Amino acid sequence: MKALTYQGMKQVKVKEVEDPTLQKADDVLVRITTTTICGSDLHIYNGEIPNMPDDFVIGHEPMGIVEAVGPDVTRVKKGDRVIIPFNVACGTCWFCQHQLESQCDNSNEFLHGQSGGFFGYSETYGGYPGGQAEYMRVPYGNFVPFKVPEDAEMEDEKLLFLSDIVPTAYWSVESAGVKPGDTVIILGCGPVGLLAQKFAWLKGAKRVIAIDHVDYRLEHARRTNRVETYNFKTEDDLLGHLQEETGGGADVVIDAVGLDAEKTVLEKVETLLKLQGGGLGAFRMAAKLVRKAGTIQVTGVYGTNYNAFPFGDLFSRNITLRMGQAPVIHYMPELYGMIKDGKFDPTDIITHRMPLDDAAHAYRIFNNKVDNAIKIVLKP
Ligand code: NAD
Ligand code: ZN
Ligand code: ZN
Repeated sequence: MKALTYQGMKQVKVKEVEDPTLQKADDVLVRITTTTICGSDLHIYNGEIPNMPDDFVIGHEPMGIVEAVGPDVTRVKKGDRVIIPFNVACGTCWFCQHQLESQCDNSNEFLHGQSGGFFGYSETYGGYPGGQAEYMRVPYGNFVPFKVPEDAEMEDEKLLFLSDIVPTAYWSVESAGVKPGDTVIILGCGPVGLLAQKFAWLKGAKRVIAIDHVDYRLEHARRTNRVETYNFKTEDDLLGHLQEETGGGADVVIDAVGLDAEKTVLEKVETLLKLQGGGLGAFRMAAKLVRKAGTIQVTGVYGTNYNAFPFGDLFSRNITLRMGQAPVIHYMPELYGMIKDGKFDPTDIITHRMPLDDAAHAYRIFNNKVDNAIKIVLKP
């Protein structure tokens, strides 16, 4: 089959790889109809994720049609339309039973119970080949795939983002405890930040403020989500201005950025010490923008130890810090319902549609924030 493969830093290539097969009795094989690239894939692209095997197939936001099932699978059958969440999770361990699928005890033998498994995200996260491909093996077929009800008439694009960024954005505002009347600052106007803006309004926020440095993304945020926007690169003393203007900071700050890729890669070639201090830009902004006793929700991915972590500042100000990989599986039915009922529509973030063959180009423009790229849908 054809698949998008990792070939080293900033190098990806669509090539022929071996077809996936059923390996366990509860495996499912899915023919991918629509897939997409996530900001998390850019951490791989920028060389920040270790343990990428040769020709590793990336991708964790796919949907498609069940092609085959193992003998123990009862939840889906050949021909069913399914959405595949980014979490690989067993469904039976303590964490899966407590809506913490990203912490599944049984899906990641490489990290020895320290994190669950994720599709298309290196051996560190379980070594599961991903979904920017024609076919994909899905383990735990009685728990992982979300079966799209047969009467659903919605096209793939409406449903695709239930695989990750819709539940991730929803979890971000839930985990942060956003409530009616709150002022919420969201760092990053990528797909995750843009969807979190919508959910912050739905949770009753009084004010939603978005920060980025890419003008077309700020423009999109203003136009589609009616949020206040700031460009942190062109605005003078933005942090001071917002602190003052919000009366001491926001109730909640959501970091939908994560480590600063370019900076980290540059510093990597210098010294490890610097790496540990760098790449923390968005988080340090969040720490400055949250009010005393407020909450910082870190959804953007950080990958290593950081000596520049502002521990004392957060401690003295009684800040609540929430973070992690989103547990998306248990949110899928509820959020599917919201999309079906027209209460939530994530499709305005789609700016490009391309065949899987053009995925290398898609990675380039999504990573470089050019051509107005926000979310790129790929068709295998
Ligand atoms: P993206 O790269 O498209 O968006 C990130 C945005 O942040 C860009 O528009 C960039 O210009 C902006 N930015 C960079 N530095 C900034 C700063 N200091 N302040 C404000 N904005 C800044 O990526 P995305 O798809 O929106 O994903 C965002 C983050 O969420 C990534 O780190 C991704 O790995 C992470 N993510 C986490 C989960 C999870 O489960 N926790 C799930 C999905 C994605
Ligand atoms: Zn993702
Ligand atoms: Zn589990």
